[in-house]
Amino acid sequence: MISQSEIDALRQQEIAPQKLLLDGQWVDAADGGTIKVVSPIDGEELTTIAAATPSDVDAAVVSARQVFERGYWSRMAPQGRMKVLNKIADLIEANAKELAVLGVRDNGTEIGMAIKAEPGSAAGTFRFYAGAIDKVYGEIAPTSDDQLALVHREPVGVVGAIVPWNFPMMIGAWKIAPALAAGNSVVLKPSEAASLSLLRLAELCLEAGLPAGVLNLVTGNGAVTGEALGLHNDIDIIGFTGSGGVGRRLMDYAARSNMKRLYLELGGKSPNVVFADTPDLDQAAKVSAAGIFRNSGEVCVAGSRILVERTVHDQFVEKLKAQAAKLKVGDPLNLDNNIGAITTKQQLEGDLGFVERAQKEGGTLVCGGAQLHPEGGGYYMEPTIFTDVKPEMDLFQNEVFGPVVAITPFDSEEEAVALANGTDFGLAAAVWTSNLSRAHRMVRNIKSGVVHVNTYGGAGNNVPLAGMRQSGNGADKSLHALEKYENLKTAWIQL
Ligand code: NAD
Repeated sequence: MISQSEIDALRQQEIAPQKLLLDGQWVDAADGGTIKVVSPIDGEELTTIAAATPSDVDAAVVSARQVFERGYWSRMAPQGRMKVLNKIADLIEANAKELAVLGVRDNGTEIGMAIKAEPGSAAGTFRFYAGAIDKVYGEIAPTSDDQLALVHREPVGVVGAIVPWNFPMMIGAWKIAPALAAGNSVVLKPSEAASLSLLRLAELCLEAGLPAGVLNLVTGNGAVTGEALGLHNDIDIIGFTGSGGVGRRLMDYAARSNMKRLYLELGGKSPNVVFADTPDLDQAAKVSAAGIFRNSGEVCVAGSRILVERTVHDQFVEKLKAQAAKLKVGDPLNLDNNIGAITTKQQLEGDLGFVERAQKEGGTLVCGGAQLHPEGGGYYMEPTIFTDVKPEMDLFQNEVFGPVVAITPFDSEEEAVALANGTDFGLAAAVWTSNLSRAHRMVRNIKSGVVHVNTYGGAGNNVPLAGMRQSGNGADKSLHALEKYENLKTAWIQL
């Protein structure tokens, strides 16, 4: 845990203008370009990050490729790579408080959550993949007696990792750790809205002994720096987390360049299905409130559509409203608050736009819907609940990525399944019921990468987060993520 006095001391620290990490050196962008870093806590400028140009991206890729071909990392004995990744995890833990406060100043996540979900989770991810390095084997395929078929696992080469502004360290680690464990070099591009904690993580990676060039970091705008990565002909894989719109662009860039492999972890509109036979309606309301409102709804797996069996609908809505009323939204670095700031002004305006459209389209605003504390210059919003949300409405179909939940009643299990699957997404879901058979049927019938039963949001490094449909492809976390960053090579030998 972190105390209020520790937080107060850390939040005063000056943050120097940030640079790019190219071939083990911290350098300015080729044209000297920078981007202002504005804190969502109070709208104040914190520092600047460098705006990498396409030539900086090229330098990063050249460095990553050269070190890959030299084999310092890609051919290092497993124990060597394990040692470095474990050391990175140690350093993240040793600097957890500083990393968490720095990240919160940049993206507004409430500190209690940030400390667990950012350094806490990232350290665990590096340890998980460090441990996997000497435990994942190649294969010997059955053949006739005079032949031998060996299936080798090889690193692919240069991995571009493009990540969003929510949980940058956690999601960054989901890409970097398995890619490095497999022996690849990485060019990391954080979001321009939250780069600071990943810049500090990159420093810790060097301190841990990661050879120069194995991890390069380019900050900058998506449309310039991200596009240059997407179009680069010498990047083998892009591991992306972000919006569907940018995911589509990356597919186009890949088609127009070297057909690089793409793994896309995209958005969601996750259904949280509450049956009348839920074991405990109070608990369902409490957990569902956290499922949508934690981190101001800026969670890819947020339970943003609650489908409630009509017989308990009104009762559930009252309970959810009571839970929302308990949440304290405000300065994310004040331990008394439960929910912090919306990461950017643009995101806050987008969230408020959803509220306006939902009202125009006939939704009933039960609570919330407005900006909070505008006088302080930061970006805060009330937890917001809508009922009477119909499948054809914008709020039912599209991801807000904010603290806004859509409630829709249903009358039968079949209707619940149809509503649950009634969007283009397939990231997460939950079912609340005492009926074991129904729980298993719902798990089978809901099209999403994870279905929680009588809870919302359980996760671990050893289970995949694997979106279906337009929520993405491939998997972050688990040994499946390691496989994404490997090539399989067969050696067929006549004996
Ligand atoms: P975004 O798509 O706007 O940006 C993500 C990253 O892509 C950023 O680094 C950005 O700079 C970069 N980018 C933007 N334009 C680009 C371009 N033209 N070419 C290449 N890169 C470009 O997403 P965001 O607003 O940062 O994050 C929110 C989205 O991320 C939501 O949709 C959310 O659901 C999703 N998300 C998904 C998961 C998951 O695991 N499935 C996890 C977290 C967030």
